[in-house]
Amino acid sequence: MKKIAFYGKGGIGKSTTAAHVSAAFSQMGRRVCQIGCDPKNDSTRLLLGRIAPSTVLDVERVKKGTQLTLGDLVHMGWNGIRCIEAGGPDPGVGCAGRGINVALERLKALHAFDDVDVVLYDVLGDVVCGGFAVPIREGYASEIYIVSSGELMSLYAANNIAKGVCRFAARGEVKLGGIIGNGRDVLHEEELLTAFAARLGTQLIAYIPRSRAVHEAEIHRQTLIAYAPDAEQTQCYVQLAKDIDRNEHFAVPTPMAFEELEDLVEQYGD
Ligand code: ADP
Ligand code: MG
Repeated sequence: MKKIAFYGKGGIGKSTTAAHVSAAFSQMGRRVCQIGCDPKNDSTRLLLGRIAPSTVLDVERVKKGTQLTLGDLVHMGWNGIRCIEAGGPDPGVGCAGRGINVALERLKALHAFDDVDVVLYDVLGDVVCGGFAVPIREGYASEIYIVSSGELMSLYAANNIAKGVCRFAARGEVKLGGIIGNGRDVLHEEELLTAFAARLGTQLIAYIPRSRAVHEAEIHRQTLIAYAPDAEQTQCYVQLAKDIDRNEHFAVPTPMAFEELEDLVEQYGD
């Protein structure tokens, strides 16, 4: 089984990319499960055609003490993709990360991963701390991909995530599989991301351009794989899934100081 986690700054395109990669894997005949580990609960929207009607923590709260089944937690998405949202506390109440631990433990106990080929964790986090580290700290995921644009603060978050990954990768099975570039129309963006990835000791596994088509499909509550299978942008996601599938380049990242990152960004800035 392939156990993948996507990390990256909030709003950078993790869930969008994750849903497209899940859809592409499912088209390759794989049994796929996508797990949103973000209190926004919107990771699987494009696969379900709506916001998931319930999260693991919602169901836990309601069914406390009674017997939970996997069917209570899993929502069937596009092309049979199993969609799960870990959930979290209401905004302003409690620690969002802690819920992830509870949710993933529950899923494991219910054998949620016994008959799937690909599990994709879509994890919020500018920094890999506390609950947001659970997917990699507890061995749920073994391959990490960091989604980033060429914007300084997105790279800053990616570098911070790499610091966290470094700690876990050095002692365990989890490794960084690459940076997924998600374009924001930054000058020389692909070259910058390539250099950034190389400096971290990893690769730029894909550069996904910014595209109106993604926005259009999102309005129609779908991935491009369902909405516009022949679109050029769709092929980027199909290719990314293939590249993740055959990836053999796994690294313990070598993060950098902020000043060095600033210099790198400046080099490509004009
Ligand atoms: P995250 O999960 O990292 O918080 P999302 O996947 O929700 O981010 O993406 C944030 C917004 O950016 C969404 O409206 C999404 O449609 C848009 N987006 C992401 N990737 C692209 C892209 N390659 N081209 C155009 N829009 C994109
Ligand atoms: Mg998201």
